[in-house]
Amino acid sequence: MQNVLVTGGAGYIGSHACKALKRAGFQPVTYDNLCAGWQDSVKFGPFEKGDLLDRARLDEVFAKYQPVAVMHFAALSQVGESMQVPGKYWQNNVGGSLTLLEAAVAANCKNFVFSSTCATYGDQDNVVLDENSTQAPINAYAASKRAIEDMLRDFEGAHGLRHVIFRYFNVAGADPECEVGEFHQPETHLIPIMLGAIDGKRDALTIFGTDYDTPDGTCIRDYVHVCDLVDAHILGLSWLLSDKESRVFNLGTGSGFSVREVIDQSRAVTNRDVPYFEGPRRAGDCTRLVSGSTRAEKELGWAPSRSNLHTMISDAWRWYQTGYYEK
Ligand code: UDP
Repeated sequence: MQNVLVTGGAGYIGSHACKALKRAGFQPVTYDNLCAGWQDSVKFGPFEKGDLLDRARLDEVFAKYQPVAVMHFAALSQVGESMQVPGKYWQNNVGGSLTLLEAAVAANCKNFVFSSTCATYGDQDNVVLDENSTQAPINAYAASKRAIEDMLRDFEGAHGLRHVIFRYFNVAGADPECEVGEFHQPETHLIPIMLGAIDGKRDALTIFGTDYDTPDGTCIRDYVHVCDLVDAHILGLSWLLSDKESRVFNLGTGSGFSVREVIDQSRAVTNRDVPYFEGPRRAGDCTRLVSGSTRAEKELGWAPSRSNLHTMISDAWRWYQTGYYEK
C-alpha cells in the first residue's frame, strides 16, 4: 500500500482527508504536534507525533514510511491571532513548511498537495473569484499561506517537486458516519458556534455586522462540505501521481449564503430557536467571498455532492450530537 504523509492529520480537515485516503487505498500517516488537533481523531493509519520545525523528526518519518506524496494541512489558522502575533505565523506556517519541503526533497518525495486559502485573495468585495484573481492578503495568516505557495513554485523550479494547491472557501459539515468531525478550541467558526448556542452550551451567537452591502446586511460566504473538499484532495493526489503539471484549484461552490441564511437553515435543520444578537462588524471580514469551482470540476472531475447548506448543517448537527464537544 502506498503511504501518504498527512501533516495536520489530527485536525478537522486532515482527519477527514485520512479517512478519504484510506477509502481510496492509501495508508495515511498522520504527522501532527497536537497543538490544535486531537489524537483520538487519528483513526485511519499510523500516528507520528512531531513538529513541522523538527527536521530530524521529519527525516525519520520520511525514512520510515517513504511516502509517495505529502498532504500538508498543518498550520495555525486564526486570522485575529495572526495579526497580534504574526511572528508565530511566519515561524510555524512558513518556517515549518520550508522545513517540510526540504525534508521532502531530501527524501525524494516530490508530490505535494497543499492546503491554501481564499483569504489569499484579500478583500475583493462583490467579485466572484477564480484562480487568476489577484492575490492580496490582508492578514498575516493569509500572507503566510501565500508565501508557501511561492515557495512551492521555487521548489518545483529547482528540485522538481510538483504541487497541487487548493484554495478553500468556508469548510463546513462533518463525516456523515460521525467517525470524525469539527472541533476547534477556541472555536471561531459560524456553524459550530451556532450549534452550541442552539443547544444552550454556548452564549447566544453574535452576528458580526448587519450593515454590509448585501441583500440582508450580513456577510456572504461560500460553504463547502469537508467530505467534498477532501474528495478533491484525492483527485489532486491522483493528478500528481499521473505526472500532470502543478496546478492551483479553488474549492468553492459558486453559491454564497449570508449569516442570516445560515441561521434560518440551522433553525430548519434542528427545529430549534437560534439565540442571537446583532453586533458590530468583526475586523478583517470581507463582505462576500464566493468562488466558482469550474476549474476543479472540469480538470479534476470534482463533483461535490454534499455541499448544500441543509446537508452541511445536518451533518454538523449529527456530529455535534455525538457529544464530542463536551470532552
Ligand atoms: N460570523 C458571525 N458570528 C460568529 C462567527 C462568524 O457572524 O460568531 C460570521 C463572520 O463574520 C462571517 C461568517 O460568519 O461573515 C463566517 O465566519 P467564519 O469565522 O465561520 O469563517 P471566515 O469566513 O471568517 O473564514
